[in-house]
Amino acid sequence: MFYGWRASTLKQIQVTKAKCDLCGDHCTHRVSVFGRYIHIMWIPIIPIGRKIVGECQNCLKTVKRKEFSMDLDNQLRRVESSIKRPIWHWIGPAILGVFAITMAYSIATHKDDPRKIYLDADEAKMTIQPTMESDSISYQLKSMFDVFVTEEMRPQSFSYYSKVEEDKVLLLLEIPEFKNLDKKVRPELLEIVTQVLDGFAHLEGKDRYLGVKGKYNMMLVKTPTEFENSNLASSDGIYDFYGPDQIE
Ligand SMILES: [Zn+2]
Repeated sequence: MFYGWRASTLKQIQVTKAKCDLCGDHCTHRVSVFGRYIHIMWIPIIPIGRKIVGECQNCLKTVKRKEFSMDLDNQLRRVESSIKRPIWHWIGPAILGVFAITMAYSIATHKDDPRKIYLDADEAKMTIQPTMESDSISYQLKSMFDVFVTEEMRPQSFSYYSKVEEDKVLLLLEIPEFKNLDKKVRPELLEIVTQVLDGFAHLEGKDRYLGVKGKYNMMLVKTPTEFENSNLASSDGIYDFYGPDQIE
């Protein structure tokens, strides 16, 4: 079982000269104190009390705590308070506690990256009909995609936006059917992008920041430091286009 309860022996004590109800002798009893806990994947999650069992060393009869003779009970009481659970029984509660504090802390201190605003603004500028005058890079790219991308991908539904800074260039694409394109094939689109960018002399040596959105979110991100190709890519890499992170 991956979960359930288990017990580990906390302590064993020899109690001498305690009366046994079965054999009638005053004999040595071995008293075992078990600490029970609920575990998940053998990690103790919640301590759930103790179980105490005595065993007559003469006739081997075992008795539960409730059935202990006065003698046995008195002798156990003397040492009982000193019997502690080992620290590892508290691993579960400790992990949960640390987790809860960490979550609370990260929720309390969470701030959106301020550069998200810039990216959102630029994403909003994507258009399915870029013109040579307003955005020559997007225009050029669209004319390539319209020729080389299969009709199933509906190239006429692609949106484009590009922005050129002193030492870097940003290119945003939205491809509604991108999800249906095999992950292994997706980078082939990048080759077309690379060719187009290489064709512009004024882009030479500039860092390239490329983001491809599917219908809802970024799915492919390529920057000088990052490459992500998944159904849910993080936009974080693209933020660097807008400058360093200002948040401490
Ligand atoms: Zn006995």
